[in-house]
Amino acid sequence: MRALEQRILKDGRVLPGEVLKVDGFLNHQVDPDLMFAMGSEFAQLFREAGVTKILTVESSGIAPAVMTGLQLHVPVVFARKHKSVTLIDDLYTAEVYSYTKKTSNHISISKKFLSADDKVLLIDDFLANGQAVQGLFDICDAAKATIAGVGIVIEKVFQSGHQLVEDRGVQLESLAQITSFDGDRVHFASEND
Ligand code: 5GP
Repeated sequence: MRALEQRILKDGRVLPGEVLKVDGFLNHQVDPDLMFAMGSEFAQLFREAGVTKILTVESSGIAPAVMTGLQLHVPVVFARKHKSVTLIDDLYTAEVYSYTKKTSNHISISKKFLSADDKVLLIDDFLANGQAVQGLFDICDAAKATIAGVGIVIEKVFQSGHQLVEDRGVQLESLAQITSFDGDRVHFASEND
């Protein structure tokens, strides 16, 4: 998505550890117009997938997920993050290792918001090694829900998450695909088009 790539080039900063900081429009301050455009793009890409629900992880997945739900007219559920979970009877939970924070968190979703009748679109801000998406897969599996696809705002294709989603055999759509960082420069897959 051209507008997203341009915004990354304008406002993104490459940090050590192959982390892209985009807190000016996605991870802290949010640009609603860009979010709305991204929601339209995801809605168009997954319009035929029979999505009944969108799942994401708090907090940075919520804005793009809600904008997509708005345009597919389906509810959006965000998994909550906890250090540990004690009362888990009415929760689906999974353990997720955080790429940026280098710590493990549990994520959880109330059983009342996910069922075997759901066809779920997973949305997240970044795809790096795929731990967040794997946690959402685990939660969907526990609920016996079907995965309709995975929508990612920014994918770092040189990390292992892409393969993890491909192995699952579900539709993966990323609005910006970063192929490499070169110092503070960002390269996109679209440069080779
Ligand atoms: P994964 O679970 O795929 O390894 O990493 C995905 C999660 O880590 C995302 O939800 C995001 O919060 C965070 N993340 C991974 N890579 C980056 C990055 O380059 N920049 C930012 N801001 N967050 C990242």
